[in-house]
Amino acid sequence: MEPSTSYCFPCNPPINIFSSETSSYSKDFNPMNPEDFRHKAHKAVDFIADYYKNVETYPVLSQVHPGYLTNLLPETPPDTPESFDTILRDVQNVIIPGVTHWQSPNFFAYFPATISSAAFVGEMLCTCFNVVAFDWLASPAATELEMVVMDWLATMLHLPKSFMFSGSGGGVLQSTTSESILCTLVAARDRVLDEIGVEHIAKLVVYGSDQTHSTYKKACKLAGIDPRNVRSIPTRVEDEFSLTPIVLQEVIKADLKKGLVPVYLCVTTGTTSTTAVDPIIELAKVASKYRMWVHVDAAYGGSACICPEYRHFLNGIEKVDSLSLSPHKWLLSYLDCCCLWMKNPNLIVGALSTNPEYLRNKHSESNSVVSYKDWQVGTGRRFKSLRLWFIIRSYGVKNLQNHIRADIQMAITFEQLVRSDVKFEIVVPRRFSLVCFRLKQFNGFDTKGIEFVNKKLLERVNSMDRVYLTHTVVGGIYMLRFAIGATLTEERHVISAWELIKEIANTMVNEHL
Ligand SMILES: *Cc1c(COP(=O)(O)O)cnc(C)c1O
Repeated sequence: MEPSTSYCFPCNPPINIFSSETSSYSKDFNPMNPEDFRHKAHKAVDFIADYYKNVETYPVLSQVHPGYLTNLLPETPPDTPESFDTILRDVQNVIIPGVTHWQSPNFFAYFPATISSAAFVGEMLCTCFNVVAFDWLASPAATELEMVVMDWLATMLHLPKSFMFSGSGGGVLQSTTSESILCTLVAARDRVLDEIGVEHIAKLVVYGSDQTHSTYKKACKLAGIDPRNVRSIPTRVEDEFSLTPIVLQEVIKADLKKGLVPVYLCVTTGTTSTTAVDPIIELAKVASKYRMWVHVDAAYGGSACICPEYRHFLNGIEKVDSLSLSPHKWLLSYLDCCCLWMKNPNLIVGALSTNPEYLRNKHSESNSVVSYKDWQVGTGRRFKSLRLWFIIRSYGVKNLQNHIRADIQMAITFEQLVRSDVKFEIVVPRRFSLVCFRLKQFNGFDTKGIEFVNKKLLERVNSMDRVYLTHTVVGGIYMLRFAIGATLTEERHVISAWELIKEIANTMVNEHL
């Protein structure tokens, strides 16, 4: 370690009055002493196993107030070492109260962030090697394992060979859907600009629905698409909030009249609000007339497609240009892990490749290997494929399919419970393991009134510290979202969550009688 010297910071008094060359330092500070690591890591593993064992006993939603931690921790960092036990004790005492427990079996908010012991160990090994695998030579195993698992997962999803390395395409691990959309959008943008000239960038127009994830607009902004040319086509309750090809066609035609150039369509398989599924085949057919890039965002819903009975949600996938799916949502992988497959990786490489002298080597020059740095925003990248490799090998496709099926079965149970109570209604058809429901009109409440009652219901349910669920508003309808799939959730948790919701609803209805 270089000692800290003060001359860069003229405002501070000198800390070290000797120059770094002349002062003597003890060499006993070694930040990676294997025996010390073994000792700490064993303790940490026990801590983690206990956490998972006891997570059910914590309030799911953290109850702290803003600034709580700043008040608990010292203002200045320690000068001298603190013991590992002290630090770990603080994790228990000051950190855990400020954690919203996504791993609680009573977590039904947003979408689940699923986990597994296989992925955890894969993550440990990824951290262990800490390679910076920007290209093949920087760690051949990292690049090649990623290629293998991307093809494995493509096989599990029955993707056509055109998306696989064993065919004419390929896949890459991104961190999030945002980056997948950004990178493919930039590839699509450059493909068109190469033809029409960069000076026409303001003419490019991109399409999604009003249910497309908000990150799509962010990606458009980053990619330099004029915000006035970012279409969010309205969906309707009659179409179950999916994008209709006829409307898309009309919107495109209007844009063409204005002299705009369609460049990209984002289709969603399992929207974030309600898990609506856009019709890939019909939408791709419209898009193909205008030679647009079609991307399918299947962040959550895509995982279900490893089961033959749900694969139909990806029907028509052979007609699109790219697909992204986030195993950190529903395939047990821990954050972050978003798989992106493309038919023509050359387009993304063309748009994103960099070739600085200091990274050149005979392999990267020969184009005989994949340089993943050219498939993503950053340069450095982690050995993330280890997690997926451990998951797929440890559980096999069969258990992964059963994991999806078990979650969907619990969602069906919850759906039936909601349907069995006349006060409630299912607002949109359930497709995966998310149930969207609400208290129905009663006692002559108008739309605003019923929205208020449902808001109150959600507030009261969450304030009990026992479960956590969230809401959405789609087509002007306020609804509660019950997302099943936290890895530790069992049917009994779903049933007792329902009982809590029902009990509170009953009290509320009685209060208003
Ligand atoms: C969750 C979600 C996203 C954002 O996903 P990340 O991979 O976490 O960035 C994007 N699209 C859809 C449809 C989602 O459900």
